[in-house]
Amino acid sequence: MAINIILLGPPGAGKGTQARRLEEGRGLVQLSTGDMLRAARSSGTEMGKRVAEVMDKGQLVTDEIVIGLIREKLEGGDAAGFIFDGFPRTLPQADALGKLMEGMGRKIDAVIEMRVDDEALVARITGRYTCGNCGEVYHDDTKPTKVAGVCDVCGSTDLRRRADDNEESLKTRLLEYYKKTSPLIGYYYALHMLSTVDGLAEMDEVSAAITAVLDKRASNS
Ligand code: AMP
Repeated sequence: MAINIILLGPPGAGKGTQARRLEEGRGLVQLSTGDMLRAARSSGTEMGKRVAEVMDKGQLVTDEIVIGLIREKLEGGDAAGFIFDGFPRTLPQADALGKLMEGMGRKIDAVIEMRVDDEALVARITGRYTCGNCGEVYHDDTKPTKVAGVCDVCGSTDLRRRADDNEESLKTRLLEYYKKTSPLIGYYYALHMLSTVDGLAEMDEVSAAITAVLDKRASNS
């Protein structure tokens, strides 16, 4: 079934992990502006160079850039549905997404807020690393690779830590979240699109809670 979902929550809430599970389980396409921006910076384009410094400090990249990236992906793909991960992060981005979807004859079916507390985020973020090849997410304490330095899923040894996954950048990222992104919770609540899940639960429980939200939305639509 075609369904379009926004995952909303602070850095480290588990949006990326859950987006990947939804991709596998439902054949949806994950659109992560963070991943797109990291790809742009590693490709060394002018835009990539401009955003690298902003990202490393933990600040938000301009609306214009990220809306442009999302527009390109939406226009280029005809997926059954999309999972927006890390987008929108500001009210202008939310408005732009609504218009883009409308223009394509689509709509956002659910906005899922993944709620977590700040203490947990610091621990999650500072131990996090991912596979550069397949994107699997690991953690030093809670989910290390079975063999040190080798991805469990694809066997790659290209395991990476993000430049902005340190306590200093995280402070700014959280501040940006509360100032600019958390107003979206009220925005989508007012539009009757918001559902909240406990992002601190076990990964499988979070997935089950998201599935329950989506099933309920589907049966109501
Ligand atoms: P993420 O991987 O979602 O944590 O994003 C990493 C960084 O990319 C953020 O700290 C921002 O600097 C930038 N970024 C990602 N998505 C957005 C967005 N929607 N708006 C502005 N900046 C973004």
